[in-house]
Amino acid sequence: MKSVYKSAAAVLMAVVAAQAGAAGSRCHGTVNRGSIEGSVPLPAEGANFTAYSTLAVAMGRNHVHSEVSAIILDAYVKLADAAPGAQYVYGESGNEYGGRFRPHRTHQNGTSVDFFVPVRDKNGQPARLPTPPAKRFGYDIEFDREARYGEYTIDFAAMAEHLYQLDQAARARGRGIALVIFDTAYLPRLFLTPHGTELEKLNFMKGKPWVRHDEHYHVDFAIPCFN
Ligand SMILES: [Zn+2]
Repeated sequence: MKSVYKSAAAVLMAVVAAQAGAAGSRCHGTVNRGSIEGSVPLPAEGANFTAYSTLAVAMGRNHVHSEVSAIILDAYVKLADAAPGAQYVYGESGNEYGGRFRPHRTHQNGTSVDFFVPVRDKNGQPARLPTPPAKRFGYDIEFDREARYGEYTIDFAAMAEHLYQLDQAARARGRGIALVIFDTAYLPRLFLTPHGTELEKLNFMKGKPWVRHDEHYHVDFAIPCFN
């Protein structure tokens, strides 16, 4: 009997969550100092993507603004055709109610998301970048000058396709991408891909960020927030 109640409660929670999503999130302040109401968690996995850590998902560190979730999921659907075989891994986004999100300096109002680089293995096949706890869930991974880490190499074409699809999905919803942070040393390789010309129009951070962004790229989505 207990399990019946439990599953009924789960259904009810799902309905409540769906309604919160339908109503839309309300973000406040900025990525540096902000909060969010009615955020939604990104799904732990889909056909061509996974979260970086089941533990982090269980801790609710994968919350975003409902519009950001819709943009990200739309893009993954498009990528199934545009980048067949590519395995995407998303990283940290934010807490359920936003606010300080250590160790990040931003990620406070549900509009910031980290994405780990898509990679190819030693045989040139698309692979999932391993993001184990021992490597601080992927954040301690260091790629070298040739964009290699062990047997893995950054798949710049698959990454470019992802950024392009995120931008397209954002525009389709009347939104946009406010900022992308990625190691500036790798940008020329990103711009050499088929979507390079379009990507050069995105607002990439020009200066040096406070941590190297080689294993992941940080995206701030342009979503209007309340004070
Ligand atoms: Zn970030």
